[in-house]
Amino acid sequence: MQHRSKAAQHNKQSQKHSARQGKIIMANTVTREREPMEPAFSLFSPEAKRFPLILTLDQNGIPHRWITWQHAVWYYAKERVAWETGSDAFTVSGGKCRDTGEVSTVTAASIIAIRGKAMAMKSFNQVPPLNNRELFHRDRHVCGYCGGIFSHSKLTRDHIIPYSRRGIDTWMNVVTACRPCNERKGSRLPEEAHMELIYAPYVPNRAEFLILANRRILADQMEFLKQHVSAQSRVHLS
Ligand SMILES: [Zn+2]
Repeated sequence: MQHRSKAAQHNKQSQKHSARQGKIIMANTVTREREPMEPAFSLFSPEAKRFPLILTLDQNGIPHRWITWQHAVWYYAKERVAWETGSDAFTVSGGKCRDTGEVSTVTAASIIAIRGKAMAMKSFNQVPPLNNRELFHRDRHVCGYCGGIFSHSKLTRDHIIPYSRRGIDTWMNVVTACRPCNERKGSRLPEEAHMELIYAPYVPNRAEFLILANRRILADQMEFLKQHVSAQSRVHLS
């Protein structure tokens, strides 16, 4: 923990210093401050893809979301980082000091807790959005009917109670299915089609959703998130 506090101190100094110079990387990437929340940095920009994402928590340590390192730097600059954990850290270079020629740096931890009301209001129990990518990942790319393992492009979202029969588009009513199985089932219920489901659907909690949504999770981030995933989740099988 010693090196962390040192790093934090260093960050503070760098930020103060850079604020005076107005040259650090934040000055280039953030054009105006948005209140009450933070600037939007795309998770999909080529720049963001070069580095692993940083996991944010609320002040109580509840997982919140993935952010880019630029975004993390912004939190450090605004002194919104309440505490940090994780075994990885990323150091980002900023501008050069005109007086000393020193390059300012900001070190961001791989897991950071953010202070603020807006964070606390976003409930951990909120149902995560339903997307094919995360659905297929939840079901480990296994067709719920034939048990085959398929690549993303060969899979579909099957509504257990079909859409045409007022089935709804929720985590509990969908499973991953290969195209032939989905076509065979058509607008029937599994029992009508004599196609038994080989596993049950479930709603991933926020921690699990964060695991499903990011393919480049660092070991320390994974370890942290797994502690918040429910015991019956298939994430524990991997
Ligand atoms: Zn199948």
